[in-house]
Amino acid sequence: MTRRKLIAGNWKMNGHIDHLRELHGIEKAAKAHPQVDVAICPPATLIAPAVARVPNLAIGAQDCHASDKGAHTGCLSAAMLKEAGAHHVIVGHSERRADQGETDADVHGKAEAAHRHGLTAIVCVGETEAERDAGEAEMVVTGQVAGSVPADATADWLVIAYEPVWAIGTGRVPTLDDVAAMHAAIRAKLADMIGDKAEGVRILYGGSMNGDNAADLLAVDNVDGGLVGGASLSADKFVPIIEAGAAQG
Ligand code: PEP
Repeated sequence: MTRRKLIAGNWKMNGHIDHLRELHGIEKAAKAHPQVDVAICPPATLIAPAVARVPNLAIGAQDCHASDKGAHTGCLSAAMLKEAGAHHVIVGHSERRADQGETDADVHGKAEAAHRHGLTAIVCVGETEAERDAGEAEMVVTGQVAGSVPADATADWLVIAYEPVWAIGTGRVPTLDDVAAMHAAIRAKLADMIGDKAEGVRILYGGSMNGDNAADLLAVDNVDGGLVGGASLSADKFVPIIEAGAAQG
């Protein structure tokens, strides 16, 4: 089965309104390469201005609450993000699992909320370096998939991002064999959970992806795109990753 590659950028807590100028070059590259899907997830305050500035580029969010409304000071619901113009929402990023103590059950609730409100959920999973060193990487990651992915998930609204925690922002990447083995294990776990629908679900790789390594990473079996942090902050660095995805489109 052919799955369209998705190259998604996660700006994390970076960028003010003037940074949106970077989106023009990214939108232009997305338009030039229609065989690949492209999305940028800026800070929530920039979602609506980004949509106004580049209406043809998919804009996403970095988190949502599991509930639709209520006494949750400082949080944003999936419905609010949808109203602001988001298409996607990242849930369960390792930085939130670590900093906010989010559990698989929390991530599961957020993914369901995303689906309820018509957003694509990008569910992040990934092992720490200690877990990999202990030979537990596959067990940890497939356990996160089992706990975080709703049972009714389909490729229409679910994307998985495998992001080894030790590779995020460090310039280190796993070997291509390790990436292939983990993506195959994730697909097999999804098949246990949702049957044939697992074949269509895109599994992104994330962790120090850049213009130099993207072509190799995106050529690995079951790597259906990338979730990109640092290199998504400028068009100059992100566009080569879009081009690498498009070349394999
Ligand atoms: C991320 O945080 O999702 C990420 C992959 O970051 P970086 O590309 O900077 O490693």
